[in-house]
Amino acid sequence: MGSLKAYRFRIYPDAKRQKEINQRIILAQRLYNKILERVKEEYRKGEKSKVNMATFNKYMQESINEDKDFLKLYSQTRQEVFMRLIKAYANFFRRVKEKKHGKNTKVGFPRFKSIDRYYSIVYPQDNGSFSIEKERKTDLLRVSRIGRMKIDMHRQMEGTVKTLTIKKECRKYYAIFTATNGNNPTEVNDINPVGIDMGLNNFVALSDGKTIQKPKFFKQKEKRIAKWQRIVARRKKGSKRRQTAKEKLQKEWNNVTNQSNDFMHKLSDKLVNEGYTSFAVESLNIQNMEKNHRLAQSIQNASWNRFISMLSYKAESAGMGFVTVPAKDTTQECNRCGSVKKDKDKLTLEDRIYNCSACGLTMDRDVNASMNILKRGRAGLARTNAQGDICLYHSTGRASSVEELRTYSAVPTEEAPTFR
Ligand SMILES: [Zn+2]
Repeated sequence: MGSLKAYRFRIYPDAKRQKEINQRIILAQRLYNKILERVKEEYRKGEKSKVNMATFNKYMQESINEDKDFLKLYSQTRQEVFMRLIKAYANFFRRVKEKKHGKNTKVGFPRFKSIDRYYSIVYPQDNGSFSIEKERKTDLLRVSRIGRMKIDMHRQMEGTVKTLTIKKECRKYYAIFTATNGNNPTEVNDINPVGIDMGLNNFVALSDGKTIQKPKFFKQKEKRIAKWQRIVARRKKGSKRRQTAKEKLQKEWNNVTNQSNDFMHKLSDKLVNEGYTSFAVESLNIQNMEKNHRLAQSIQNASWNRFISMLSYKAESAGMGFVTVPAKDTTQECNRCGSVKKDKDKLTLEDRIYNCSACGLTMDRDVNASMNILKRGRAGLARTNAQGDICLYHSTGRASSVEELRTYSAVPTEEAPTFR
């Protein structure tokens, strides 16, 4: 994994922008305190064992439902609040443990943050929420929904900028950028590229024929989620019992998310350490995802997106290439002769084997797809994005992913990924 580097510059927002920033800082702080309050309540009730990631998630969701103002915060800022809470809470329990083992440690419950202790908001780079612009000789920081302000860039940033944190300290404002791999990782010689397909029968299939099984917990959780979905649907709208069922359902979701995060961290670690030198994956478009009503598939799609962001980040940090390719027909195309199945000839969800009527190729459907993905990735790199349909991937989505990746936590799964 590459290193993270932080750069700190003074910024000069005018009165109007200061107000905007301050509002968001106060909001973030209110959210932090609100969730912490609930955690404390639980703790006092002696239910400390129940406060886990899922509980935090639930409290976060409830807080947002109660106060829509929190939606004004970027999800990354909310995520950051979340991670801070988890960290504070984990530290608290570490201190409790140390005390038990006779260490002379002060055990204080995580403190409520007052304005001067909580003073930052976070922005992701990849959705264009901020940028640096030059106007004549002045550097300007543009932040979405806040505006532009002068920034004192006294040094050059190196590496890929991942996040911006705006911080207030004693009435002064600062922009802190995190960048990965200031001293760019040595580019890995691309001698062993691999295509990865999100499998139907497997969690993923690789173009070298390896497959990674879906962990068992997916199946178990699917059943429970399906059960609670039915119960919610059955109960009367607006009733208390329906609300209870909804909460149960949310809990199951959070649970599967935590477990799958853990699984995917292990899997992405394994992949970047397995001797591959670059990765090609298919891009899932959101519309397709939503159209798909099969529960199992929607759970897996959600996981897949998180998996892509983990893998791309880890691959980039290690100096390996990472591309996404269009997903169209990766399943229906023969990777040997290129013919594409049409109409009633198409593979259905039930078909596990790809049989090419043109050239006679017979192989696992997911592996065939992953080989197509690899091919498209290679072609795309060769064309250097000439047609714009293949894009280089710069780690997806949630900007706090850097923080998230470093704060390895979640509920550990029993099942580590195994290659077959
Ligand atoms: Zn063929």
